[in-house]
Amino acid sequence: MVEAPLQFITPREPKPEWLKVRAPGSENYLRLRSIMRDLKLNTVCEDARCPNIGECWHHGTATFMILGDICTRACAYCAVAHGKPQALDIREPERVAEAVEKMGLTYAVITSVDRDDLKDGGSGIFADTIRAIRRRMPDTRVEVLIPDFKGEEAPLQTVLDAQPDVLNHNTETVPRLYRMARSGGKYSRTLELLDRSRTYAPAIPTKTGLMVGLGEERHELLEVFADLRRVGVSILTIGQYLRPSADHAVMTRYYHPDEFADLKREALSMGFVHVEAGPLVRSSYHAHKQADAYETHAAARV
Ligand code: SF4
Repeated sequence: MVEAPLQFITPREPKPEWLKVRAPGSENYLRLRSIMRDLKLNTVCEDARCPNIGECWHHGTATFMILGDICTRACAYCAVAHGKPQALDIREPERVAEAVEKMGLTYAVITSVDRDDLKDGGSGIFADTIRAIRRRMPDTRVEVLIPDFKGEEAPLQTVLDAQPDVLNHNTETVPRLYRMARSGGKYSRTLELLDRSRTYAPAIPTKTGLMVGLGEERHELLEVFADLRRVGVSILTIGQYLRPSADHAVMTRYYHPDEFADLKREALSMGFVHVEAGPLVRSSYHAHKQADAYETHAAARV
């Protein structure tokens, strides 16, 4: 799965004030939920049990999870189910586009489970989804949060050829913790994907996300920031890891909001155009604002 893990559990330390959120239930939230059910769509907001669901859905922001709801990988931090995935649903792109239209979204985020079982890693469905949204809603901006496609370049190019507005691929954690947290992934492969994207489609900004609270050190995070800048990443998100269950990777500690502010300052000083850092920040949290910041920056450079 390619989105950060998101459910609350009861850690040894009491949950700090800054992680408390209101239970979802607004009219808009209920309307979105009913559209998703009617069209048989999955969202990462629900499947990864995101704490922001009340706020995001109230404001009409949701992250669609395509290619089913069963992941072929089992990352130690992720709440999404893993196992043998379902057969490919080639009508899914049209249903996602229909939901985007019904919801009147001006910004749509599309992600997926990992589909290592498919020859193209699911990249064809990603591309079809972008195109289906463009046909119905030409002014809607589309961000894709993609898996690593096992390091293959052709699936990445398939997605980029469909011209998403933002190409997002999460780094998740520091290289030392990859083996523990993300055994199916490789840090070097993540950097390579982000680098290839900028080389193949320089006009499409790249974005990545990190979780903190898995045991990383501050200096390791700063080294990752530098690596990401070296491969041209312009948008960075940093959020608190929350352990989905006792079977998942241990959460080592809560970061204080001041520490997020410090990381944001450091990252901005390295040249990221936009950094969203905070306890409840997820890849897709305030995604439209992150893209706006990039576009303003790009326009100022013309
Ligand atoms: S932060 Fe992302 S995953 Fe969480 S509710 Fe908002 S859109 Fe969904």
